[in-house]
Amino acid sequence: LSLLRVVLDTTEDAARALIGRERIRLAVTGLSRAGKTVFLTSLIANLLAAGRGARTLPALSDAAGGRIRRVFVVPADTETVPRFDPDAHLGALAADPPRWPERTEDFSTLSLAIDVERRTSLGGLLPERRVTLDLIDYPGEWLLDLPMLRQGHAAWSAETLARLRRGTRAAAAADFLAFIDSLPPEAPAEDVLAKRGFTLYRDALRACRDTHGLRFLQPGRFLNPGPRGEAPLLWFFPLPDSVRGGLADLCARRYAAYLDDQRANFLDPFFSRFHRQVVLVDVLGALHAGQEAFTDTAEALAAVAAIISGANWLERLLGAAPSRVAFAATKADHVPTRARDSLAALVEHITLGARGRAEASGATVSCHAVAAIRCTEDAVARLEGQAVAAVRGVLLQEGVGATIYPGEVPMKPPEPAFWDAGLFSMPEFRPPRLDRHGASGMPHLGLDALLAWLVADLL
Ligand code: GDP
Repeated sequence: LSLLRVVLDTTEDAARALIGRERIRLAVTGLSRAGKTVFLTSLIANLLAAGRGARTLPALSDAAGGRIRRVFVVPADTETVPRFDPDAHLGALAADPPRWPERTEDFSTLSLAIDVERRTSLGGLLPERRVTLDLIDYPGEWLLDLPMLRQGHAAWSAETLARLRRGTRAAAAADFLAFIDSLPPEAPAEDVLAKRGFTLYRDALRACRDTHGLRFLQPGRFLNPGPRGEAPLLWFFPLPDSVRGGLADLCARRYAAYLDDQRANFLDPFFSRFHRQVVLVDVLGALHAGQEAFTDTAEALAAVAAIISGANWLERLLGAAPSRVAFAATKADHVPTRARDSLAALVEHITLGARGRAEASGATVSCHAVAAIRCTEDAVARLEGQAVAAVRGVLLQEGVGATIYPGEVPMKPPEPAFWDAGLFSMPEFRPPRLDRHGASGMPHLGLDALLAWLVADLL
């Protein structure tokens, strides 16, 4: 008996020593307007509710063996990054009528403490373990800098300009392309030129994003300068190989300096410390935006997936990298149940190349379709006399119910004929209202399975 006591006491000591020490850093990012703010808000609402005993995240609760006891917000362990404001975000959902939460700062963090029950192998209760879940939200644009780490300025320029001279990009970038095409081969290393090129290039990127819904836009900080703002460090741009003078050297030096700076200020202090990562993508939005926007989103996703899941390479570069990465198509409630598997399959198809590599290298990648906040129910609509699977929800602006046919979701990047069939646009739905004390969390689709895959093994 006394031996058992000693063993138990030691376990208890170890358990006490563990309290407050265990951290899971879960990074959440998404290509612009992917639904990051809503995802984080719903995740927090549902975890808090799960901590009060509600079965809002069944797959996570089950994967954690039903041992989640309490969940509450705790101060984040960093003072330098803005806080994600849960009260404001949850408040918007609790308003009458409920509103979507305002977009977050582009870099913010929030920590939740999760108390997990522990038992001895004989079923005796041990002190609870406290696991701190750090949620770190950063702009997806920065993720697109990762592929640049594998290229020099010349290779990056060639690839970027080839893309920029195609399709709607060429029109959006007309002024920039005219500028670089007029540069003499021996263009000098003058800051006036460098800044002019940078400004025209950045404006082209902005037009591509804002007017055409394109996503494969590098470098990330040109679109999203972050807390450090704009600096001469950013005064570079892609150049054709016909330009070889001082300006080309200047751009190449700044390109390298920019990547060093991103490493020193983002990749090393933050990215390399993430344990888990989820990348959100509005794949449905890209499908509805047309062939070019879709292809571009797919290319951006594939490029990021190739790097992020090539953990060996990232680990060698940064010393560490997230060990699990999930890619999730958001707003899955915009399509009826049977289309959601297609949506997940589509994301998987886009990232599949990376997946093969990931399996070889140890990082694990998984693909999902989720609705952080479910606003619709399945319904049937009539299209040219035919019954088609649709969704029904309350329109945000009008406040009235509507049945919407969202079109078909292909299981892989669609054939050209798909785009001829005409595109559907999705309205903004009104979110359901969060009850006053948030006791029942928010309705969602697949958030629990995604979380279970991402963190349950650490609980
Ligand atoms: P962010 O820019 O990535 O932070 O995007 P937000 O999270 O602010 O989401 C942008 C908009 O997408 C929201 O205002 C909603 O209209 C819509 N949205 C986001 N998530 C969902 C979801 O799960 N379901 C539905 N129906 N709409 C969503």
